[in-house]
Amino acid sequence: MLLGKMMHQPLTVGSLIDHAARYHGDTEIVSALTEGGFERTDWATVGENARRIGSALQGRGLEPGDRVGTLAWNNRRHLELYFGVPGMGMVCHTLNPRLAPEQLAYIVNHATDRMLFIERGFVPVIAAIRDQLTTLRGVVMLGPRDESAAAELPGLLFYEDLLAEGDPAAPWAEVDETAPSSLCYTSGTTGNPKGVLYSHRSTLLHALCVNNRDGLAISASDSLMPVVPMFHVNAWGTPYAAAAVGARLVLPGPRLDGDSLARLIIDESVTIAAGVPTIWLGLLNALDGMDEKPVSLRRTIVGGSALPPSMRAAFRDRYGVELIHAWGMTETSPLGTLNAPLAKHAALSAAEQDQIGNGQGRPPYGVELRVVNADGTLLPDDGETEGQLQIRGHWIVDHYFGQEKSTLTWDGWFDTGDISTIDPDGYMVIRDRAKDIIKSGGEWISTVDLENIAVAHPKVANAAAIAARHPKWDERPVICAQKRPQSDLTEDELLAFYDGKVPRWQKPDRVIFVETLPLGATGKVVKATLRETYGDVLWDDALAEMEAENG
Ligand code: ADP
Repeated sequence: MLLGKMMHQPLTVGSLIDHAARYHGDTEIVSALTEGGFERTDWATVGENARRIGSALQGRGLEPGDRVGTLAWNNRRHLELYFGVPGMGMVCHTLNPRLAPEQLAYIVNHATDRMLFIERGFVPVIAAIRDQLTTLRGVVMLGPRDESAAAELPGLLFYEDLLAEGDPAAPWAEVDETAPSSLCYTSGTTGNPKGVLYSHRSTLLHALCVNNRDGLAISASDSLMPVVPMFHVNAWGTPYAAAAVGARLVLPGPRLDGDSLARLIIDESVTIAAGVPTIWLGLLNALDGMDEKPVSLRRTIVGGSALPPSMRAAFRDRYGVELIHAWGMTETSPLGTLNAPLAKHAALSAAEQDQIGNGQGRPPYGVELRVVNADGTLLPDDGETEGQLQIRGHWIVDHYFGQEKSTLTWDGWFDTGDISTIDPDGYMVIRDRAKDIIKSGGEWISTVDLENIAVAHPKVANAAAIAARHPKWDERPVICAQKRPQSDLTEDELLAFYDGKVPRWQKPDRVIFVETLPLGATGKVVKATLRETYGDVLWDDALAEMEAENG
């Protein structure tokens, strides 16, 4: 006898855009054009165009499961592909435009992309490697027909032509919720990049579970500006979360410098934003030089690398903007933790609340965390014991794209490669990436701690701590610092700034002033490059000193 039954509907990306188009159809989508200026559309039109583009791809012979690459900024057309491609059962494969052409070719081929959508500016790059992209049936420029572009890349198709070919009322493909919906490669700082294949189900559960009041907290009354690129972990899933609640979107296009973002926030009354700390550093500098204030902006989600406490304080005290620290990775869709208080924290002092708020936060429903030591033994969640951070949950990778073997531990956890502590309430603090942490005389020194101190110095624009090789201690910390314009900061002055803030043995041995720090494709400092350049700066002097000591 059937006891009763609830409806079963698969959790699919198509259903998200249907909701946004049906119930928030006239909510605006503002999109910065690459050539300057803006276009304004709405969720209803995005929904219609998503069906058009998806059905046009079907019409051109693409099948469920086929990968469709995108090389695009945060803009309206990219948003339509986010929904239209998976809606028709294909996989939206976002590619990072800042990768070198040979890496792009490797990833397009590895993913066996069938179609590639590119901005006008990337036509020359793709034309140069087109003959290596053997799996592609076509390249589509994200724009109207453009004869000069067509001349550069024979056979080039045009987005607006495909839209015209498509059917605005085409039904979404019937897909199983466990079918893949999108694909994103890790940046591959070590070795070849690996692809993470998200499913409709993982995408939906991520969008729904991370967007609660203690999470991203994006609502229909918000204007959300995802500065985190749509080519990086689906812009942290924010377009999907925004569709689920019908938020207004402000898509910043290619100009992510502080001045452009400040203007956009003020002119478009952005209420919530998301991005990596280097972006907010640029914004802070721009705001400090302006008369106007970003009065509409209330919350900003910051992650991807550690948020310096001094930056959090600066935004709060000068502009009334709350910077909310979150942690995640490509393999975790990405949200693993986000910092929101518990009721009992209200009884703590402001300094204690601040200390908790500076960490990476706690997991939402849907994921669990643990720390283990090198041989996999479980370590205590006591807020002090550092260990390898592992995670499991509904939106965490199991197999990388194209790999036969699961990447998980024997008991089903994903090892993040991060070193962290977890306290009894689940609040996690990243101490470092395992490959960045400085191992000095058998003890660990957190580069995150050293960097947070350096960037709190008023004359420092940005800083990175690296391990330099040392004949006695194996490794010692060196700070690579970028000064603020016209600053007269000296090495001794910055070193003295560490006194009393860290134990003496953790104080950096040297400061190297650099013009700029090398930033990777996702706006994070590439420490491997710094280590290559400066990893040996201490060696000769230290060796001479040791020899002198030993007579
Ligand atoms: P990659 O940086 O290699 O491109 P991801 O973008 O997936 O790859 O980055 C994930 C890594 O970024 C994490 O493993 C962690 O080391 C770092 N990270 C992310 N968020 C934070 C944070 N809030 N604080 C410190 N590190 C972070």
